[in-house]
Amino acid sequence: RTGFVAIVGRPNVGKSTLLNRLIGQKISIVSSKAQTTRHRVTGIRSDAGAQFVFVDTPGFQTQHRNALNRSMNRTVTQVLSDVDLVFLVVEAGRYGEDDRKVVEVLPEGARVVLVINKVDRLADKRMLLPFIEQMSAAYPFAEIVPLSAERGTNVDELVRAATPLL
Ligand code: GDP
Ligand code: MG
Repeated sequence: RTGFVAIVGRPNVGKSTLLNRLIGQKISIVSSKAQTTRHRVTGIRSDAGAQFVFVDTPGFQTQHRNALNRSMNRTVTQVLSDVDLVFLVVEAGRYGEDDRKVVEVLPEGARVVLVINKVDRLADKRMLLPFIEQMSAAYPFAEIVPLSAERGTNVDELVRAATPLL
């Protein structure tokens, strides 16, 4: 199996950290500053049963309308229009208006895995359950995978869940 996977989400949720983790190399810049990823960044991962082409994208901007943000958002929608699968990345315990705007630009019928990142920050893991319920109501996600891109926790589970969806 081979497939293109878009990694999308609002700024700072950990998209680039996840890409680097998925391919085991630091090819995308990670920063606590928004707008660090301004273009698409592509990385390939080959497993026994599947080859993934991951496309990291700029954070989807909803706050300020200016030329840079418009161009970054255009990059996001272009990438979304031409992939087999989408990883929508959100932050554990934090789902707000900015995340909802990203759900709104998902193409009709897109196959989407919800990646709940930064679970290492959750003081109480029981908080995950209501969060997952809330998220399931927002979109019919094919899979929901909580993980920590920074620590690498559960990233293999994401790959396992995504493989049959390619
Ligand atoms: P992007 O804007 O979505 O590409 O996010 P980045 O990958 O640049 O990461 C934004 C910030 O979140 C950086 O300071 C990362 O170190 C941090 N970060 C990313 N993944 C995790 C995680 O799993 N846990 C924690 N605690 N921080 C993370
Ligand atoms: Mg980034």
